[in-house]
Amino acid sequence: MNLNGKICVITGGASGIGLEIARVFAEAGGIVAIADLNSDGAQEAARNLGDEHLGIAMDVTDEATVQRGVEQVIAAHGRVDVLVSNAGIQMVKRVEEFSYDEWRKVVSIHLDGAFLTSRAVLPGMYQRGSGTILYMGSVHSQEASALKAPYVSAKHALMGLARTIAKEGGPKGVRTNVICPGFVKTPLVEKQIPEQARDLGISEQEVVSKVMLGETVDNEFTTVDDIARTALFLASFPTNALTGQSIVVSHGWRMD
Ligand code: NAD
Repeated sequence: MNLNGKICVITGGASGIGLEIARVFAEAGGIVAIADLNSDGAQEAARNLGDEHLGIAMDVTDEATVQRGVEQVIAAHGRVDVLVSNAGIQMVKRVEEFSYDEWRKVVSIHLDGAFLTSRAVLPGMYQRGSGTILYMGSVHSQEASALKAPYVSAKHALMGLARTIAKEGGPKGVRTNVICPGFVKTPLVEKQIPEQARDLGISEQEVVSKVMLGETVDNEFTTVDDIARTALFLASFPTNALTGQSIVVSHGWRMD
């Protein structure tokens, strides 16, 4: 699987899953632009990959920084071939405890961020008649868990966005797919373990073995490498046969 000089923008690429996707894409011959709210982290990650890779300051919920960031990539490399819309956060509490601001923040980073970054790259992709967009969904794009209402809602909504762009973009050579990871031990998940233990009144060990991994086939975490390899497979797939789909990567948690 080779990316052959494809220009790849990865949001949320300064940490966790996005960081590993950037590494694997660069190793496969892609030129990556790591776009993150954490601008220092994005720049450091890009520096570690080599000179042609870019670190970009971007808040995916802010139209102006999204537009500027994509323009920066186009100024440096002429185009965007692959977008991985991956930036995300999690907040864990019961529906009635969420403030409206908290709800909007979670939904906005996942869903508005996916819309704004897609909207910024699509015109160029349509002009060239080719492009790939990957959305970082979750098993929570297909299934709910208690305490995660805005996250589950936004991750479900990403399926709708991906399928719509698959239909609009298909005739113009643009495809979209959704990757749905199970639990991956990144800062986003590490933070949830004590929070869920407190909210559910159980031990941290029980959160891991029952709540997070209880429905896997082997009680194992999915890894950043598992997800990055799936992203590489989808990004380097040569035709539009594979579009509008979601792929669950979760040690068997949620089988379709
Ligand atoms: P992470 O916390 O390690 O990384 C998230 C990155 O997103 C960080 O670098 C952060 O700075 C960035 N970010 C946050 N808000 C942003 C914004 N407004 N604009 C730009 N960047 C922003 O988390 P992760 O676990 O690597 O998660 C990456 C994606 O994978 C998320 O969409 C998450 O929902 C999804 N996911 C994670 C898991 C898991 O178990 N870790 C499971 C399923 C899906």
